[in-house]
Amino acid sequence: MDRAYYVTTPIYYISGNPHIGHAYTTIVADVLARTSRTFRPTFFLTGTDEHGQKVANAAAAAGKSPQEWCDELVPRWKALFAAYHIEYDDFIRTTETRHVEKVQRVFEHLRESGDVYRGKYEGWYCVDDETFWLESKLVDGRCPTCGRAVQWISEEDWFFRLSAYRDRLLEYFEHNRDWVQPRSVYNEMMVFLREGLDDLSISRTSFDWGVPIPGGGVIYVWLDALLNYITAIGWSEDEARFRTYWPASVQLVGKEIARFHTIIWPAILWALSETAPEVVFAHGWITVDGQKMSKSLDNAVDPFSLADRFGADAMRYFLLREAPLGSDFSYSEEKIAQRRNSELANDLGNLLQRTLAMLQRYRDGIVPGRKGSSALGGRFEPLPAIVRARIFALRFREALEGIWELVTALNRAIDERKPWELHKQNRADELDAVLYDLCEGLRWLAILLHPFMPERMSEMWRQLGTPERIDEDWSSSLRAWGGLAPLTQTAPAAPLFPKLDTIAQT
Ligand SMILES: [Zn+2]
Repeated sequence: MDRAYYVTTPIYYISGNPHIGHAYTTIVADVLARTSRTFRPTFFLTGTDEHGQKVANAAAAAGKSPQEWCDELVPRWKALFAAYHIEYDDFIRTTETRHVEKVQRVFEHLRESGDVYRGKYEGWYCVDDETFWLESKLVDGRCPTCGRAVQWISEEDWFFRLSAYRDRLLEYFEHNRDWVQPRSVYNEMMVFLREGLDDLSISRTSFDWGVPIPGGGVIYVWLDALLNYITAIGWSEDEARFRTYWPASVQLVGKEIARFHTIIWPAILWALSETAPEVVFAHGWITVDGQKMSKSLDNAVDPFSLADRFGADAMRYFLLREAPLGSDFSYSEEKIAQRRNSELANDLGNLLQRTLAMLQRYRDGIVPGRKGSSALGGRFEPLPAIVRARIFALRFREALEGIWELVTALNRAIDERKPWELHKQNRADELDAVLYDLCEGLRWLAILLHPFMPERMSEMWRQLGTPERIDEDWSSSLRAWGGLAPLTQTAPAAPLFPKLDTIAQT
């Protein structure tokens, strides 16, 4: 049995409604989890970050208590993930008792170990990012991340002895050059480390929406939030479960929060005598006109309407195919429509429709037997291993490109072997062979693409008439070309990806 796989998204800060960027990160985690679940124990965690001044301010502006505000918004996140066919194993909320109690336990633990001490904090603070900044990092006196005004804060605080972990961090980074990906983010973090680290203020006294500290104040929202990755899997509570999943296999973050996850987070884990996650991957941003898409920039596109208009699975495909995970990419509805129409409707959807129509016409919809070896089969038998390796290396675009080689080869097989002529010339064995290859190829595509487009590929699977489970282990279902049983009765139905102009009218 392979070691368990644990994938996390950031927990999302609910100061407003979710946008497509939240769906993006969570879809990435879903593809990893769905692929992993076919062959080993897997845990996929997401959730919401509900404490902090920004949430308190947003709630106050809406005339609600922070808890009411969060309780009303959380269902929007869950609905978004459902709309995009995301199947997480757990959704943690930082206001839940199971989290709060353990955060307090961490605080006690760190105080006892001497990693947390009392001191005076003075410095600049960006409320929007809940981040402290050194004077030298400000840009024209404003927050270097979001450009907003920063506040001067002066108070007695609890501090985490982050500076004491700098040497260990440097050594860890030098010996584990792939633990932070992509390399551009790794390099950026090395610059931070080389510049030196200040101790981190981890308590706030100016507001009270957070995890209470015995004796007064609340815990800094970032410490509270980071701990979700271990509180959700039973840290200090269920040792066996915790050891099954920790360290996380991959933690997905946006590049703007890489610093918290690759410098502060491992130091906290080490202070708790735990290990750092195996990989932190900082993905790029979805941009509109060169600006990061986010609620605060008021250019957010409603992710629910995108799923309605283009189809959730087509959006999943677009987001993973359009750009490598570590790069930014600019959002455009033309690009979504173009990929949907050319790659999904034409290349893939038509392939299924044409194949099942020919099978209906020439063989009453029944998959024929297969004689001899198949050149297509020989060529594509290595594909599942290649796709799986690319998925777990988070090279989704290359995984899809690899799968598309099979799509292209099957379409070419129709054009070159011309089943209609084989039928006319009564070359029954050759016709059987090409029809079998097409059906078998489609079966492979349904399985390989299932993690990316779970709903549409289940429908393709249904039309192919295959009785087994679509999400079974690739090493058995795709072991060799020829797994599709002869005499399978296919069930052609509506196109998988109707052309968009037809959608627009409905
Ligand atoms: Zn800011």
